[in-house]
Amino acid sequence: MIRKLGDDVLREKAKPIADIGEHLTLFDEMLIQMQAANGVGIAAPQLGQSVRAFIVASNPNPRYPDAPSMPPELMINPELLSHGEEKELGWEGCLSVPERRGEVYRYRDIVVRYQNVDGESVTVSLNGFVARIFQHELDHLDGVLFVDRAEQLVDVVPPSE
Ligand code: ZN
Repeated sequence: MIRKLGDDVLREKAKPIADIGEHLTLFDEMLIQMQAANGVGIAAPQLGQSVRAFIVASNPNPRYPDAPSMPPELMINPELLSHGEEKELGWEGCLSVPERRGEVYRYRDIVVRYQNVDGESVTVSLNGFVARIFQHELDHLDGVLFVDRAEQLVDVVPPSE
């Protein structure tokens, strides 16, 4: 079950992961739940686990028809190392807030670091929609939801299938 707005776990500051091997079942479940819900990202607190990991998985789907394609990337203990000056306004949704969408400012270009499932440190540049997903998911690890940052919010009708 994906935790929804109002659940306290979504407001906690998540703890760093020391032993990646202890969380493999959680990582599998995150991928399954994200794909089942047509998400482009999911963070561990959304499954009730207050630890610092999320998946970024931009793909066109009914919720985000114009999203660029990338293989799902599990990011453990992720950090935002640096960002460009430019911010972009764009629409976001969240599997924990299924009935709303909002326009949120995010940095367009960022450099991030995380550990992969093998424990290796990865440093990579992200931009555009993928950078937006990263910033949205990183917020989840600090107890912040997009509705806190949105310039405007709209109600959406959940897709019928
Ligand atoms: Zn979210």
